[in-house]
Amino acid sequence: MQIVTHPHPVLRVKTKPVGFVGENERRLLRRMLKHMRQWKGIGLAAPQVGLSKQLIVAEVDDQTLLWANPLILESDRAGKIMEEGCLSLPSTVMDISRPSSIWVRAINEKNKKIELKVEGLLARVIQHEVDHLNGVLIIDHKAECYKKGDDGYGSEG
Ligand SMILES: [Zn+2]
Repeated sequence: MQIVTHPHPVLRVKTKPVGFVGENERRLLRRMLKHMRQWKGIGLAAPQVGLSKQLIVAEVDDQTLLWANPLILESDRAGKIMEEGCLSLPSTVMDISRPSSIWVRAINEKNKKIELKVEGLLARVIQHEVDHLNGVLIIDHKAECYKKGDDGYGSEG
C-alpha cells in the first residue's frame, strides 16, 4: 500500500458503497489500519491508498474503528474550528470548522450495521474521512471556514 497524494484523480472520485464486509474487505481494512499507524495518521480512507471504495479506518486514543459505508445522519449545528492535516496533502495544515458531535451509521469489520453518537476528535476524523469518500479534501473547506467565521462562529464555537 502506498499513500496517494493530491492532485491524484482518485482523490476526487465519489466512492460507491461496499455491498458486504467479507474477508477481502476485512483484510483491506486491517492493512489500512497498519499503514495508517506507520504513517502516524489518525484516520485513513480507501481513496488515499488508491481504492475507490467506502472504507475508512480511524484511531483516537483507545478507540479504533474499521468501517464500511459510513454515513453521517445528523450533526451538531455549532461548528468548532481546529487545525487539520491530511496524509494526502503533506505540509498543508488548515483551520477547519466542523460540528463537534455527529450521529453516524456504518458497517463494522464484522459486517454488523451500527449507529452511534461520536464526539470530539474522533467525530472530526470521521467527518474528514467521509469527505474523502465524497472526493472532498481539506483545501475545499477554505471558503466555508471564512464564511462560518463571518457568521459569528467563534474559534471555539
Ligand atoms: Zn485526509
